[in-house]
This record gives sequence, C-alpha cells and structure tokens, in this order.
Amino acid sequence: MTDDPYRRLAPTPPDPWLAAWRDLQQRRRLAYLAGAPFLLLLVVALVLRSHWEALWALLALLATMAANLRAISFRCPRCSERFTMRGKRRRSFNTFCDHCGLEMWTPRP
Ligand SMILES: [Zn+2]
Repeated sequence: MTDDPYRRLAPTPPDPWLAAWRDLQQRRRLAYLAGAPFLLLLVVALVLRSHWEALWALLALLATMAANLRAISFRCPRCSERFTMRGKRRRSFNTFCDHCGLEMWTPRP
C-alpha cells in the first residue's frame, strides 16, 4: 500500500500572461544589453581610427536596432495590440498597455 493520495489534482498549466510578461522582460533586457557592444566598438573605432572596428560597430548597431524592434513589437496578451505603441507614439518603458491599460505582470483572470 502506498501513501499516495487516491486522487491527484491535475497539474495546472502555467499562466500564459505571466509567460508573456517574462517574454517582454527578456526582450527589453536584450535590447538594453545589445546597445553596450555598439557603444564599446564605437569608442574603440573612434580612438583607433580603424575601419574594421567601425564596421563591427555598424554591425552591432544593426543588432541593437533589431533587438529594439523585437522589444517594441511585443503584443499585449489581452488585446493583442502593440504594448508600447499607439499610432506613431512609442513609449518603450511602458509598464501598461497603451490600448487597454493592462498593467505589466497582471495574471490572467
Ligand atoms: Zn492591451
């Protein structure tokens, strides 16, 4: 005879909104971190007056722009609109949806 209960509760699936908030957080962190190599390579290129470092800085700039585009393209888990953009207005550091007002880290009701 085992000590296991007769019935076990079905495992609850993870909250999809919390997974979306973690995704937004990772996108924002990557956007912040992607800017550091660009600045470093830009300074090195300016100090050394080297074309190769300038080329690497340009590539790092493109990577930074791609990371930022990915961060601002995040869609709100409730209304599916862009979380930080409304029309041409962009607020990259928003902690709430510009369309429905959903606060970041709100669990799914
Ligand atoms: Zn929304």
